[in-house]
Amino acid sequence: MPKPHFSNVYDVIIIGGGVAGLTSAIHLSRHRLAVLVIEKHEYPRHKVCGEYVSNETLPYLHSLNIDPHALGATTIARFELSTRQGTLISSSLPLGGFGISRFTFDAALANEAIQQGASLIHDKVTELRYNRGSFFISTQQQKVFTAPVAIGAYGKRSALDKLMDRDFTFKRSPFLAVKTHVKGTFPDDLVALHNFDGGYCGVSKVEDGSINLCYITSFAAFKKYKNTEEFQERVVFQNPFLKAVFKDSQPVFKSPLTISQISFDKKMPVEGHVLMCGDSSGLIHPLCGNGMGMAIRSAQILSGLIVDYFTSETKSREVLEKKYMEKWEHEFSTRLGVGRLIATLFGHDLSTRLSMAILKIFPWLLPRLIRLTHGKPMAPA
Ligand SMILES: Cc1cc2nc3c(=O)[nH]c(=O)nc-3n(C[C@H](O)[C@H](O)[C@H](O)COP(=O)(O)OP(=O)(O)OC[C@H]3O[C@@H](n4cnc5c(N)ncnc54)[C@H](O)[C@@H]3O)c2cc1C
Repeated sequence: MPKPHFSNVYDVIIIGGGVAGLTSAIHLSRHRLAVLVIEKHEYPRHKVCGEYVSNETLPYLHSLNIDPHALGATTIARFELSTRQGTLISSSLPLGGFGISRFTFDAALANEAIQQGASLIHDKVTELRYNRGSFFISTQQQKVFTAPVAIGAYGKRSALDKLMDRDFTFKRSPFLAVKTHVKGTFPDDLVALHNFDGGYCGVSKVEDGSINLCYITSFAAFKKYKNTEEFQERVVFQNPFLKAVFKDSQPVFKSPLTISQISFDKKMPVEGHVLMCGDSSGLIHPLCGNGMGMAIRSAQILSGLIVDYFTSETKSREVLEKKYMEKWEHEFSTRLGVGRLIATLFGHDLSTRLSMAILKIFPWLLPRLIRLTHGKPMAPA
């Protein structure tokens, strides 16, 4: 039963209610901690994302009372990769995954967090201050909330990163992404990654039968064209698979969603005592299709350590932060490294063609590469 919370003092405040923040909220609330999630947008809402989730998350999600298939998620077991010229490689997916829109997934996670007793407010965090063991978190609606533990789960990039002087904010983030949903013909059990000059587009189906089309490209490649339509016609449609899926389908959205300033630079999992979770702690290249898997796994690791912190007698922040940094590095540094390598290999036309030629000769390499960017099935909570 949700327990009402009457003050603005909590055990844990989570900034951002995406998959990382909401999973943490469910996990921590199940351990009867007083949790507040501050999310700037209302649910449900569409987000730029390929919406393919690795099955490694399933045992943990089920234990948190989240069943994506009960929400209609598609079961995805096959993978295809193509070059701009139309060379195609197919493979089975070692673990497989499911297709679910962020519209449905995030809203279901938010509902469950509330059911488990978490408080959720829609407001934007504008400032956070740490003083003598407490965080003071201020919002756009002039509210201030306090907690001894703060989780930064606000995604890829936020004004809060600038506020904390995080290193990656001083570098340029040259990628942008576009997503739309369309109705058309596409197998339910397939996720495809089709390359084009300067980027790639993911194609897979979500719970309502819509096909998710989500592409990422460099700003340098995009800026030569007037708008997304011209970019698609002139660049994206050079790949015959993409031309077919875009042209033979009907759009569901009035216009595509876009985001820019995407950075794959290294980030620190703890910054100014804020425990970073999900994309706030590091973003794997979407080519690897496992950002949500990593966000959910980081929420699981972090929540377990926070529960230990609150149940220990010493309540040592130093131990909590050190353990999280160690576990985070151990779990994710290889995946992020391989992700960067794959992104480099498939970032240019020539290296893409060369990589595809090698994969054609040694097809067993593809599932191995996929495995290196994914984890083992997560333990239940
Ligand atoms: C083009 C592209 C395609 C992708 N495709 C896939 C895929 O197919 N499969 C996959 O597993 N991963 C994919 N990813 C990665 C995946 O989207 C992310 O890893 C995942 O969304 C991370 O979740 P998160 O909770 O950390 O961040 P988010 O889901 O971004 O959530 C952060 C939340 O914080 C909120 N917020 C931000 N600032 C504030 C603030 N100041 N105050 C209050 N709230 C705030 C935001 O509104 C948002 O809801 C893709 C990424 C990109 C860019």
